[in-house]
Amino acid sequence: MRKQIVAGNWKMNKTAEEAVALTSEIVNMVADEVTGSVEVVLCVPFIYLPALQRYVGGRISVGAQNCHQKASGAYTGEISAPMLKSLSVPYVILGHSERRQYFGETDALLAEKVDIALANGLKPIFCCGESLEQRQNEDYLAIIRDQVTNSLFHLPAEQFGQVVIAYEPIWAIGTGLTASADQAQEVHAAIRSHIASKYGAEVADNTTIQYGGSVNAANAAELFACPDVDGGLVGGASLKSRDFVDIIKAIR
Ligand code: PEP
Repeated sequence: MRKQIVAGNWKMNKTAEEAVALTSEIVNMVADEVTGSVEVVLCVPFIYLPALQRYVGGRISVGAQNCHQKASGAYTGEISAPMLKSLSVPYVILGHSERRQYFGETDALLAEKVDIALANGLKPIFCCGESLEQRQNEDYLAIIRDQVTNSLFHLPAEQFGQVVIAYEPIWAIGTGLTASADQAQEVHAAIRSHIASKYGAEVADNTTIQYGGSVNAANAAELFACPDVDGGLVGGASLKSRDFVDIIKAIR
């Protein structure tokens, strides 16, 4: 059975004190229930990783929101995959639409980031998704397939098996607009069959494909019940312990 992963993307939010409070509240509320094939990852600002690692454990971990494509060097202000490895960070979000939009990250750059993350034992949570205009033009499935192909399909199968995919329609991120369960299922099934066309049915069946985009306590259960939706990448609702815990509990 493939992993069901609920990941919180805190983005650039929380002070150090608030970060500890939020993490310990979440862990206290759900630690006993995160079992079996379910995992929870809190993707927090880099500077809080070591402090927050003390509060998590078992199937709950802290992850990163990005890494640089080079291993080290004169890149002021950046954080590398070997640095994250040295802290035993298990997951790193790559290709979030905010990184693509505000920091000009391209499919080719993301392929480099995916490579260095995997070379350092980090599992990428690779984000893909279409804009509203692309959805309205009805070419969204081709665009999403291209994002996956361009950044991931150079990987050998065993490395691809370490990648988690997050389908995040840009029009649903932080907007309160959520893809319907049918819309999410259509794209997730298309991504899975695209993976099968390259790596075969077994690899595709084992790939975790999360949904992200205004997931909340009220819509999570319906989205997570879709056969090809394997948990969620959650932004705004991961910043409040009660909301995030309710989303985790929706994964049954
Ligand atoms: C995200 O940023 O990955 C995200 C899905 O945000 P939100 O849940 O706030 O839409």
